[in-house]
Amino acid sequence: MNTSIKNILHNNDFSKDDIIELLYTNQSEAKLLYQKAKEVKSCQIGDKVYLRGLIEFSNLCVKDCLYCGIRKSNKNVQRYSLSDREIIQAAQFAFDENYGSIVLQSGEVKSRVFLNRIDRLLKQIRKITGDNFGITLSCGEQDESTYSRWFESGANRYLLRFETSNKELYNNVHPNDSLHIFEKRIESLRVLKKTGYQVGTGFMVGLPGQNLSHIADDILFMKDIDIDMCGIGPYIEHKETPLFDQRNTLMPLNARFELTLKVLAILRIIMKDINIAASTALQSIDKLGREKAIRVAANVFMPNITPQSYRKNYNLYDNKPCIAESPVDCQSCTIARINLANGKVAFGEVGNSKHYLNRKNLIGEMNL
Ligand code: SAH
Repeated sequence: MNTSIKNILHNNDFSKDDIIELLYTNQSEAKLLYQKAKEVKSCQIGDKVYLRGLIEFSNLCVKDCLYCGIRKSNKNVQRYSLSDREIIQAAQFAFDENYGSIVLQSGEVKSRVFLNRIDRLLKQIRKITGDNFGITLSCGEQDESTYSRWFESGANRYLLRFETSNKELYNNVHPNDSLHIFEKRIESLRVLKKTGYQVGTGFMVGLPGQNLSHIADDILFMKDIDIDMCGIGPYIEHKETPLFDQRNTLMPLNARFELTLKVLAILRIIMKDINIAASTALQSIDKLGREKAIRVAANVFMPNITPQSYRKNYNLYDNKPCIAESPVDCQSCTIARINLANGKVAFGEVGNSKHYLNRKNLIGEMNL
């Protein structure tokens, strides 16, 4: 088996069967995969880790995804939305502390009031930061005109996970209605790219009903649509969601963790210059989860800068870490974690995806 893994890793591109074999590896074989991913990372990306201050600014959501703790039907969540002032203050904190970029994330809301508000906030934040600062939005599926408008007002990156590239599985973990249409989700990614955003996407590893063939397809799908950034994490059950009933069918948490690391390593090898985030969900399974992701493949870390009192209400899954911490606590912890992973914190750097710059032929013209 080791020889076959070595043979596969000898190439820089993998077939679906290769990927399945790499996902199936035992611990000692997986070390070879990790080693190769580390080499690619070191050669293409180096040891810099970019910071994205994460502002979970609202948990109001019109969607009812069967896995998510802030789904509309969960009546046990206290709904909140940060004030404009709180959002601007958080952005100012990230700017003053030289984070280089922020992510504004929320549940999905499509009202005129919400769309206008984001637009206004983007303009205000841009006024503070100037152009040399990354602003990522992660506010779900919106119309093309909204994506364009937000782009014009200052957002330059967008995160929208496709969750799974398999339509049947998608339909099994979402309600069957007009708000949760697989094709619309996928189409949104193409629209975002066309609009000019650096596009980030990803999926959950270990969903009920998911197998290695699905995961291999997810990886190849990301390559196929040629994404710039990736956010992939293990699925973690949440007690107040319908999927909790299927918890007995799931892989153990540590297996989901290991499988996620393998996915990140494979993506690093086949999509060399993309930005890969060390997702928070990794840390909820393994205390050193994000460090492990950085050692193997990731080059982006998202310190939470949501004001502390709101955090307990943004529980997408059970045991989400950093709930009792403040933005300042997360700052010192971030630096310690990145150092522990032998990374260099890239203070003051926007950290554009090299893949995006290459795709747009902008290498050399923009501050990396
Ligand atoms: N409303 C935005 C942001 C959603 S939350 C959007 O639709 O893009 C961000 C991500 O959290 C989701 O895309 C999903 O992949 C992840 N997530 C939600 N519930 C989860 C769970 N139970 N376990 C792990 N990840 C989860």
